[in-house]
Amino acid sequence: MPKFRNDAATFVRESLEGLALSQPGLALLQDRTTVVRADRVVTDETRATVPVAVLSGGGAGHEPAHAGFVAQGMLTAAVSGGVFASPSVDEVLDGIRAVTGEAGCLLVVKSYTGDRLNFGLAAQLARDEGLDVEMVVVGDDVALGDSDSHAGARGLAGTLLVHKVAGAAADAGETLQQVRDRAQHVADRLATMGVALGPGTQPGSGEQTFEVEEGKVELGLGIHGEPGVAQVPHRPADELAEELVSRIVDARPVPDGTPVVLLVNGLGGTPPAELAVLARAAARALASRGIGLSRVYQGAVMTSLEMAGASLTVLPATPDELDLLDRPTAALAWPGAGSGAGAGAGQPSASSQAPEVPVPADPTADVDPGEADPRTRAAVDAACRALLDAERELTELDRVVGDGDLGEALARGARAWLDEPVDGEAAYLLRTLSARFRRAIGGTSGPLYAAGLMGAAGALGDGGSWPDALGAAVEAVRDLGGASPGDGTMVDALVPAAVAAADGWDAVLAAAREGADATREGVSRKGRASYVGDRAKGHPDPGAVAVATWLTGIRDEVDGR
Ligand code: ADP
Ligand code: MG
Repeated sequence: MPKFRNDAATFVRESLEGLALSQPGLALLQDRTTVVRADRVVTDETRATVPVAVLSGGGAGHEPAHAGFVAQGMLTAAVSGGVFASPSVDEVLDGIRAVTGEAGCLLVVKSYTGDRLNFGLAAQLARDEGLDVEMVVVGDDVALGDSDSHAGARGLAGTLLVHKVAGAAADAGETLQQVRDRAQHVADRLATMGVALGPGTQPGSGEQTFEVEEGKVELGLGIHGEPGVAQVPHRPADELAEELVSRIVDARPVPDGTPVVLLVNGLGGTPPAELAVLARAAARALASRGIGLSRVYQGAVMTSLEMAGASLTVLPATPDELDLLDRPTAALAWPGAGSGAGAGAGQPSASSQAPEVPVPADPTADVDPGEADPRTRAAVDAACRALLDAERELTELDRVVGDGDLGEALARGARAWLDEPVDGEAAYLLRTLSARFRRAIGGTSGPLYAAGLMGAAGALGDGGSWPDALGAAVEAVRDLGGASPGDGTMVDALVPAAVAAADGWDAVLAAAREGADATREGVSRKGRASYVGDRAKGHPDPGAVAVATWLTGIRDEVDGR
């Protein structure tokens, strides 16, 4: 598939600059891939009076989501990562700082591990800075069922309805709690199921995101090129709509007598006329079950590059929610009636340059390092050197059960410390290490390590012992990542290590190694390895092995070996 593109590295930024030229009132955050409402960038004068901010985002490749919905009446800001890649913690944090006043900020996050971790940690850091931040995670996907064998229902096109309801409520002056509750209420009742007729193409590599057999369609796919839950023969639109509707209402039954909002979303490669045929068919499939319609929206709002296909979303909405869906918004991409009826927040740019606003200053930049602690400094250095030395081993392990980037990722974090180490008290060292890791490492490990190190630093800062610090680190990792022992993640090494902490570093290390080794037996239930199923059996979880690796470094240093 031929593409309009210049350079894979600048593709997302260029596309957002182009968007900002046509949608009134948008600006880019300096050199970032974050789009904000220019009139809602918080200043000292407006901090006390701006309404609640609603911020969303995630990987690119879903256009017009998310930046296309930044406008009066919908999102205040959208933070974009690369194509199908979550933005980093710091990108999200800077976005929050830019638009959050005293009224606070709601993050609307699609349920993917990377997005949950990066937005989740950014929310924690923003709260530490005194900002009022809430987060709602949307998992409207009903394709995977309720089994616990995977990382949970994904966020799909239904997220758009959460954006609309929350954005309208925020701009009407509701409080953060009210906006959050409304967003959660919609998120809890949404159900979405998609069907793909053909794949999308990665703009960077030109690779197709998956293959669909001739004459078949994929049911229940995600929006990142993951294949669906089943390939079924291609059929007339009425029958496909019937199949999708039946799966949706089986998974989330519609209360008797409640009319529903129907959203027919194009995945990027399906013309409007086909979506309309599907909308008509879906309406009939619902009617045959005695389910009436209160609103029907159709359009390509949450795409997957140029994938041919569509998803249906059903929401039994309350009268209040319908009212919020009906409010005008200036978002050009919103498919509802009344779109554009509200005044734009600004005028279309007459210049050929997309407007920019500066990245806000980092309020945590001037912290007192405290008195140097050479022993802790040496232990941190040793842990980082151990990760550097294990780069190849960890890469190999992650290649088997994940995507092969763990060794390189942790080595990047280690180098970010070793190239420019700092001195100070133990809590300061760990806090600095946390910031280095979260900036150097994306993916899953970056935010999880950053959260763990922050937790440990917090415990030490409160006068806690090293066992306390290890315990706090483990708790922070579990809190953010949601994994329990036995899920086949780094938590399987961390929890026994923390339990053994009072018995010295030898015991800690032995417990971590044993925990890591035990992950060979189970099937991973969290993170990306949860989608490869039995392929992971017999191989240890790379994240758990990494824990034993840096603990070895610490133990050897502490023992002077
Ligand atoms: P990815 O490439 O999937 O973004 P990384 O390669 O950075 O992830 O890290 C993979 C490791 O992260 C896994 O081996 C596992 O130990 C750990 N991990 C994944 N999900 C979680 C989670 N929810 N909680 C704790 N650890 C997790
Ligand atoms: Mg990986």
